This record gives sequence, structure tokens and C-alpha cells, in this order.
Amino acid sequence: MERKFVLATHNPGKLKEMTAILSDLGIQVVSPADVGITVDVEETGATFEENAMLKARAICEASGLPAIADDSGLCVDALNGGPGVYSARYGGEELDDRGRYQLLLNAMRGQTTRAAHFACAIACAFPNGDTLTAEGRCDGAIAFAPMGEGGFGYDPVFLVPEKGKTFGQLTAEEKSAISHRGRALADFAKKLATYFGQTASI
Ligand code: IMP
Repeated sequence: MERKFVLATHNPGKLKEMTAILSDLGIQVVSPADVGITVDVEETGATFEENAMLKARAICEASGLPAIADDSGLCVDALNGGPGVYSARYGGEELDDRGRYQLLLNAMRGQTTRAAHFACAIACAFPNGDTLTAEGRCDGAIAFAPMGEGGFGYDPVFLVPEKGKTFGQLTAEEKSAISHRGRALADFAKKLATYFGQTASI
């Protein structure tokens, strides 16, 4: 049986990544636009998990279908875990990705403690009220200068020590294998398979 889930994202990259992993579970992933809805959810939660759940619940209510949402960000030890849930808005809406990571490098100037991690939470809300959550994390450090052109967001300044490269220098496959989002997705797929085992039909 094919099960249809709505993924609460406008990001074609995330839709593709999620589709690849979830198709193995017999899940068809569609976008909000595919089912004729637009829901703009304010990310008012204090944690990645709260924000992901806010989005999943809103899309589930609007579509009447199970909905999946994620929220992620970069947490820097020397900035007390910031920008964290504010990663997308760090420095204000008018900055682009490059402006944001330059601002971060400036904030880290003179800092010898460079430890940081990316975190990702995935939430799923079902029309019957059931929910699932999963999390993933990738530890690393803030580089002293941007390196690499790949990826998006803070990728050029996020160093993965065991690779000796930034996320921006990894291929999409190399990044997915170790990234916060890749790990959260793997955890989510496992939890969903268990849930399906317990719930014959949704
Ligand atoms: P969201 O989960 O789409 O709300 O993304 C939050 C923000 O965190 C993004 O806009 C990026 O700035 C940052 N971010 C999340 N994941 C990554 C990643 O894999 N690489 C680089 N930046 C990321």
C-alpha cells in the first residue's frame, strides 16, 4: 500500500532527499502545493523539535494527511548555542547565506573555542493525533575562513574534523552520510517503520 505524506517545505532539495529515503517504506512524499495548500507557519518554538512539530501539525490539519516537517540550525559553543533556532534569520532577513556566515566569522574573530554542531529535528503529525519525532546532530568546528562552494547556508564555514573539510567541500552524498539531517532522517525512517509495524493502516 502506498501512503501519501505531505512534506512541509518549499525547498526542492529537502523534498528530493526525503523522497529518496522514505520511498523504501512505501511512502509517497508530496509538497503542500501538490495537495493545493499553502501554510505559512511562524517558527515561534524555543527548540528545533517544537518548531518542526508546529509546522507538521499545521500542514496535517490543513491537508488532512500525515505531515512531516523539519527544523535545523547551527549551534556554536562560544555563542552560547547561537544562532540555533535563529540560524535562518541571523543578522536579519536582509542578509543572504554569504552575509550570514561572514557575520558569524566576525562574531568568532579572536575566539579559540571553535566547537559547534548542526542539529536537525524531524516531526511527523498524523490526522489521528499521533506524532513522531527524530533528531540528528553533526559535531564540528567553525573554520577561520570559508572553504568550498557546495551546499548552502553555513556549509563553507562548518569544518568536519574527521574529514578535514568543510560541509561546503563535500559532495551531497558525503554530506548526507554524516549530516544532522541525514542522521535525523535515518532515525525518523527507523521510527516510522516501527510505527507502521504497530499501526496497520493510517
Ligand atoms: P531550516 O531548517 O530550513 O529552517 O534552516 C535553518 C537554517 O539553518 C538554514 O537557513 C541555514 O542557515 C542553517 N542550516 C540548516 N541546515 C544546514 C546545513 O546543512 N548546512 C548549512 N546551513 C544549514
